[in-house]
Amino acid sequence: METRLAKADDTLLDEAAEILKSGGIAAVPTETVYGLAANAYDVEAVRSVFRAKGRPQDNPLILHISSVDMLCDIAESVCPLALRLAENFWPGPLTMIFPRKKHVPAETCGGLDTAAVRMPKNGFTLKLIEKCGFPIAAPSANTSGKPSPTSAHHVFEDMNGKIPLIADGGACSFGVESTVICFENDERVRILRPGAVTPEMLREFCDTVIDSGVLGKLEPDAKVLSPGMKYKHYSPDAEVYILKGSTKAIEDHLKSKATGKTGYLGFGNEAIPADVVIFPYGRTSGEQAENLFASLRKADEAGCTTVYVRMPETSGIGLAVYNRLLRAAGFRIIDTESGESDAL
Ligand code: AMP
Ligand code: MG
Repeated sequence: METRLAKADDTLLDEAAEILKSGGIAAVPTETVYGLAANAYDVEAVRSVFRAKGRPQDNPLILHISSVDMLCDIAESVCPLALRLAENFWPGPLTMIFPRKKHVPAETCGGLDTAAVRMPKNGFTLKLIEKCGFPIAAPSANTSGKPSPTSAHHVFEDMNGKIPLIADGGACSFGVESTVICFENDERVRILRPGAVTPEMLREFCDTVIDSGVLGKLEPDAKVLSPGMKYKHYSPDAEVYILKGSTKAIEDHLKSKATGKTGYLGFGNEAIPADVVIFPYGRTSGEQAENLFASLRKADEAGCTTVYVRMPETSGIGLAVYNRLLRAAGFRIIDTESGESDAL
């Protein structure tokens, strides 16, 4: 199949809608990462998404909507707190989990009796959902396990020949996937995956608990609230390690360990030995979120076999950066001050 890359503007909406209405799949931009879109109510279309990504069948998809009416068509019930959060954070990078109605296919939801729902902010994709009139299931448009795509070019790398259309909306503004929450009661939410809607932002409205799977390693057979958390994720081909410690200790570590095939994702303020390939991923947490996946992909393109990444701040959107990085690194952290190495 030939894969067409086309600018995501109003003239592309009809073509993209036709593909989705006839059971096909297409990649679309969102404010988080690019999504691989299909009609969430069409079991065959949803199966093609799992196939194109190589995604495990029990890892459920997020249903993207364009109106609260669509939410009511999916969710068996919506608590008042969910409505308040929707009013404040939608359209935007917040995914909420609801008990699902019976007509929502089990395949879309990885066999669970719940459905994850969000309203994306990207103008093209929001209009596309409106035009289609059904919710769009749209997991990240990467090969399962690889770093998520934050540009149309990244999608092309993974999906060329597998899908007919990639709608190019430029670089994604946040660069990490949405925050995923479920409701413990009408006053408290559990964060299953951190994102650009931060715990600090949610605390303005309710209590928050951060699920142990966000920063902890899960056993392969552990029972988890969010199946996606148990899989290896976001990983380039290179071996990734997180480096903890002062700028000086990190510089010393790189000097002693670097070979010609070593990459380093730092903040941009380190003195790096000549034989390390540098991909600074930003000084602020926002920049780090925006650049993390692209930098990991660049390290692979440069042929690096080992990539060291400087430990990010973990507050605000930094928690999302750290969550993705832990999985990309298989939870391997090196403390450059003590020389100790943790595999959590
Ligand atoms: P992706 O679409 O690749 O961004 O991944 C979606 C994430 O949402 C995965 O981590 C899923 O496990 C999680 N998710 C989707 N639906 C549900 C659900 N019904 N219950 C819990 N987690 C979900
Ligand atoms: Mg994904």
